[in-house]
Amino acid sequence: MQRNQALKFSYEFFPPRSARMERRLWRTMGQLERLRPEFFSMTYGALGSAQQISVDTALAMHRESPVAVAAHLTGAGADRAAVLAVARQLQSAGVRRIVALRGDTPDGDDAPLHAFPSAVELVAALRRIDDFDISVAAYPEPHPDSRGRRQDLEHLRRKFDAGATRAITQYFFEPDCFLRLRDAAARAGIAAPIVPGILPVHDLDRVREFSRRCGASVPAGFGPLFERAGDDAGARYRLAIELAVELCESLRREGVGQIHFYTLNQSDLCLDISLALGAIHATGPVESAA
Ligand code: FAD
Repeated sequence: MQRNQALKFSYEFFPPRSARMERRLWRTMGQLERLRPEFFSMTYGALGSAQQISVDTALAMHRESPVAVAAHLTGAGADRAAVLAVARQLQSAGVRRIVALRGDTPDGDDAPLHAFPSAVELVAALRRIDDFDISVAAYPEPHPDSRGRRQDLEHLRRKFDAGATRAITQYFFEPDCFLRLRDAAARAGIAAPIVPGILPVHDLDRVREFSRRCGASVPAGFGPLFERAGDDAGARYRLAIELAVELCESLRREGVGQIHFYTLNQSDLCLDISLALGAIHATGPVESAA
């Protein structure tokens, strides 16, 4: 395991819901692509957003950005034929990367429709369509549907056996959460890469609320730190950078070589964090990674 190596980065975005948000997304991508990341990813229907906007945006990113694009795809709220039609649409446009997820049913939907019982079956179905590069989710802390840590690991193994290339984790804030998962996976003979997903914390209340739903724990120590920063936007921004850099540096010391950022479509924070971690800002034209 190589320690303190140069880190590689990928960045996740969500679909814009207004013209203003769309402008911000393109601005964000324009700044982050100068760091020559491994890939950009576009979420799919997350938090009730429209799935078609996700597909359209992923296709536009694929056309316009020199960075490889991974389109997220879930089986939530659709039947198999519809989900696989989206996969074929991505394939024929030349999108080679998919982040395959079971997905969640939106709140208040009492007749949940899931095209696939879990991500395992979606991965297997995608593999039958093409030789996609497929990422799946992994959970350093138990997912709300977890049936136990041993079963979680077995479930993750089934996703790899079905054809996944790598796993990207749910966000976490303590390095040990990730290292426990990585080491348990290695002991279980899982050799595929598990990439830590990092969420820079800017708005602690929002992160706490979201974490309650997805099973991630927020360290008690964050409260006093953000209270001290108070309403000072600059102080909160610097704190967000400091916390994320500290977490990523701890992971790097443990041999982690790649980080996936949940950007929340905000470039400045992820750009500054990546630069603090040694990313190099390209000055010339950015070549296409395709
Ligand atoms: P699965 O891995 O199939 O199952 C989730 C968990 O349920 C497992 O970890 C396991 O604990 C348990 N489980 C399920 N089946 C079994 C079984 N047979 N045996 C044992 N345990 C089982 N959501 C979106 O809507 N759109 C997105 O774009 C999106 N992107 C994401 C990206 C990442 C990197 C991550 C980590 C999550 C993302 N999500 C997204 C959220 C995701 O859809 C939810 O967490 C969903 O509830 C689970 O999807 P999954 O693919 O992890 O499901």
